[in-house]
Amino acid sequence: MVRVRTGFTGLLAGALWASLAAAQSPSQPVITVTSQPAFPAALPPSPLPGFMYDTPFFPGARHDPAIPTPDSILGFPVGQRPARHSQIQACLKAWAAATSRARLFEHGRTYEGRALYHMVISSEANIRRLDAIKADVGKLADARAVSAGEGDRLAANLPAVIWLGYTIHGDETSGSDAALALAWHLCACTDDDVKRLLDELIVIIDPVMNPDGRDRYLTNLGEDRTEQPSVDDQSVLHSRPWPMGRTNHYLFDLNRDWLFAVHPESRGRLAAISAWHPQVLVDAHEMGAQDTFLFSPPREPINRNLAPGFRRWGHVFGRDQATALDRFGWRYYHGEWNEELYPGYSTTWAAFRGAVGILYEQASIATDAVRRPEGTLLSYRESVHHQLASSLANLATLRANRAALMRDYAAQRREAVADSGAFAERMFAIVPGANRSRDAGFIELMHFQGLEMYTAPQAFTASGTDRLSRSIEKREFPAGTILIPARQPEARTACAILEMETRVSDEFLDVERSELLRMGRSKLYDITGWNLMMLHDVDGYELAMRLPAGAKRFEALPPASDANSPKPSTQPAEPVAWAVDGADDLAVVAAARLMERGVKVRATDKATELDGRRYARGSIVITRADNQLFTGNLEKSVSDAAKELNATVTAVNSGFGPGDLPDMGGRHFVLLDAPRIAVLSRPPFATYNFGEIWHTIDRVLGIRASYIDAAEFSTTDLRRYNVIVLPAGGEDALKDRWSALRAWVKAGGTLVAIGSSAGAVASESSGVSDARTLPDVITKLEDYSMAVVREWVGRLGRVDPARVWAHTAPAALDYPWVTAKKSDKLPDDEAKRRDSWRQLFMPQGAILAARIDDRHWLTAGCGPMLPVLYDGDTILMAAGGVQAPVRFGIFEPVTATPAPATKPAPTTSSAVGDQSSKDDQKDGDTEGAPSHWAPIPPGHEMRLRMSGLLWPEAADRLASTAYVTRERVGSGQVILFAASPTFRGATKGTMRVFTNAIICGPGMGASQPIRP
Ligand SMILES: [Zn+2]
Repeated sequence: MVRVRTGFTGLLAGALWASLAAAQSPSQPVITVTSQPAFPAALPPSPLPGFMYDTPFFPGARHDPAIPTPDSILGFPVGQRPARHSQIQACLKAWAAATSRARLFEHGRTYEGRALYHMVISSEANIRRLDAIKADVGKLADARAVSAGEGDRLAANLPAVIWLGYTIHGDETSGSDAALALAWHLCACTDDDVKRLLDELIVIIDPVMNPDGRDRYLTNLGEDRTEQPSVDDQSVLHSRPWPMGRTNHYLFDLNRDWLFAVHPESRGRLAAISAWHPQVLVDAHEMGAQDTFLFSPPREPINRNLAPGFRRWGHVFGRDQATALDRFGWRYYHGEWNEELYPGYSTTWAAFRGAVGILYEQASIATDAVRRPEGTLLSYRESVHHQLASSLANLATLRANRAALMRDYAAQRREAVADSGAFAERMFAIVPGANRSRDAGFIELMHFQGLEMYTAPQAFTASGTDRLSRSIEKREFPAGTILIPARQPEARTACAILEMETRVSDEFLDVERSELLRMGRSKLYDITGWNLMMLHDVDGYELAMRLPAGAKRFEALPPASDANSPKPSTQPAEPVAWAVDGADDLAVVAAARLMERGVKVRATDKATELDGRRYARGSIVITRADNQLFTGNLEKSVSDAAKELNATVTAVNSGFGPGDLPDMGGRHFVLLDAPRIAVLSRPPFATYNFGEIWHTIDRVLGIRASYIDAAEFSTTDLRRYNVIVLPAGGEDALKDRWSALRAWVKAGGTLVAIGSSAGAVASESSGVSDARTLPDVITKLEDYSMAVVREWVGRLGRVDPARVWAHTAPAALDYPWVTAKKSDKLPDDEAKRRDSWRQLFMPQGAILAARIDDRHWLTAGCGPMLPVLYDGDTILMAAGGVQAPVRFGIFEPVTATPAPATKPAPTTSSAVGDQSSKDDQKDGDTEGAPSHWAPIPPGHEMRLRMSGLLWPEAADRLASTAYVTRERVGSGQVILFAASPTFRGATKGTMRVFTNAIICGPGMGASQPIRP
């Protein structure tokens, strides 16, 4: 069909635009308008051929005049420009009040207080028995709830449920305007085809998934509004200032949050969708202004946990959608960049639950129109029409295939709970540990994601793999182990988020490697490792077993057992102190919040025992002695803080540590200094990384901090702060501030830097740190190598007393690196060449195993192994005075049969670890040595990759480098993280190290002056 575009009409001009920024309230107070001075009207825009897009959205359709049109509520034609949240809200409320075809639900509120809605639209008969339909769909979703015959009957007769979500990225606006047009059409249309559609479908419209982002974007748009139309996508009207509207209030990408559910937008939406069990989920986005329109199905890699029907149905819907767009002659494509590996996107998340997930990506027009290379104009209204036509096509496809799709859905849900098959003997197990709040957070998230959990009533043995993918044979697990069987209604979700890794196909590996080498870019769109047991750092396993007899459904951890704390009858009137166990993350939070209230807090840098109760490293203690001058009620302040956090605080009657364990008055109880935190913000600092840090401080720790505009940093008075956090990406903002930062650190500051900003701090030119990045020291690695050797010999080494007490001078000395696996030193240019090669293969978000320094205050609350989500290209090197509290790679004894010896085994025994002698022959320049610069202890190998795609070249590059460095500089310190420790608010293991750094740092690692 040939579309006729007329010239510009006066419709768009003048005061009409003014209301773009102003929220229109449906009920304005009565205002008396006085006579106003004359003001020249705007000059009308010149005619602009092709600008006006007046193709009707619903040609020939009849609509009930009793249902107000969107145009009448908005004050402009729907789709002509983006509607604000308040305008969308006004439309939804008006239609919900005017028709019995729809019901409006509020499923949450954003951080900025905007309501999140979904509107359910169906035939009047269906709406009347909506709860019964919902319950029946729920039965279909849980095949255990109905007989096979009943399930078949439900599948044959129930309406299919489709959830249409729009504008999860707030600046991708056209979807929400299409949602308005669609909702009105379905509420008001009196044509038979719409009535039939509503008989057979429950249509749920979620018109704006990120209202805070959308309104932020539209406010900016209003500020840059020009009277004359803007069709150049390089014009400011088409490019929003930071932080744009993509993200939510805390600058998170909500379309990565379906997995972690950190935010209220996700929490409300996911709960509502889960309750409806939709068979189709649509998620409408936008992409670059000069692009066209993309829709599902995706290309490889596709997450292997998705049901086979995902692709088949994706093609059915995609074909029909293409036909619908062809009718208008619109250009589109599918696949290309669109893959579905990461399970935290809308479409994958829904597809694990049995829905066909459909993505739209429309070229972003923002407002007015955009001039295309071929000279045509693509108007905003036409972009809205693309979204609308796509949704109408999807509804028609669903209706036409309802019975078959419902049958497939039912079959998939039966397969999930079947007594045999892929899910029947697959179990995920978590052994609760001392970090109670961490375990509780993990369990809560599993519940929220709809997973059923059980507890083992008694100890049991099972085989499977641990988080390092080591196979375990008949290991005993304690009573109370939490079991998450794959065999349950959300089987695919369980596997997708808990299996140790999700591999891509061999074919895709070839494609990806070729793309990296030939094009210098990846075909992966997001991270490749996300296992939630790893990101939470809970003690998790995958086991080959069924639920043991007597396993009980599990809802939450039992109340904290406090058996070791003194009984009230033996408690003196006034304890000497109160303590929170540092094994629990809440110890740091409690310290932060108490210090903010003026309470003096100490933290332990070594485990101890008080009143017969164990306290891990990082425990916090509030002594009465320290707080003599505290003006409030100390005990009440402590107990209030504990109640707010649901933390266990124990009264301590004696500061005596039995045996050699630390006593309360000794140096292991370090007085903390209340942190005064500044976080650098705004460009060039990375938006997401800043947002994660902001969210961690504001919502996880719940304390005040200062957020500094990078543009003002050159004149910022640094003396107000004792902690400065540099999020990733800030290299260019720091150039002129190195000397000021250096002076500030030397005077006692704790500087914390992340990712590429850490890399900048570690450059020689900063003069702030002695840490370095790998490329900077690639030709002089001896010192760094020696630091690694000293660490492992110091950790694993055993002394042979006979050699020490010998009265003769030794005939020969043992040097641990002589027997270690390593390669010879390379010529400088070859070393650089090899590093450039390896650099081509850096990971896009893989989970790596890291070893920790178990005596360092930064690693309090960590186990011996810390899973780290690593991405980026910052590789930190530590030696000399630079500590490496967390390094990549776990050394473990080689247990496999050693290769045939080619050299005689060394005769000495200065060695490391128990298996040293039998495996010493695996030495020297063994081919495949995991790292070219840092040797591996004899008899050991390094475990590094836990989950996700880590090319061998990147593994070789990262092995034994530092994830965290810490060094003393003058009276202060520098702490560097090679990659974000707070990624998407989800990496709870590394987040603990970060909170240790910013809360305990000023007291633990810097000298604070006594203030006379
Ligand atoms: Zn998007």
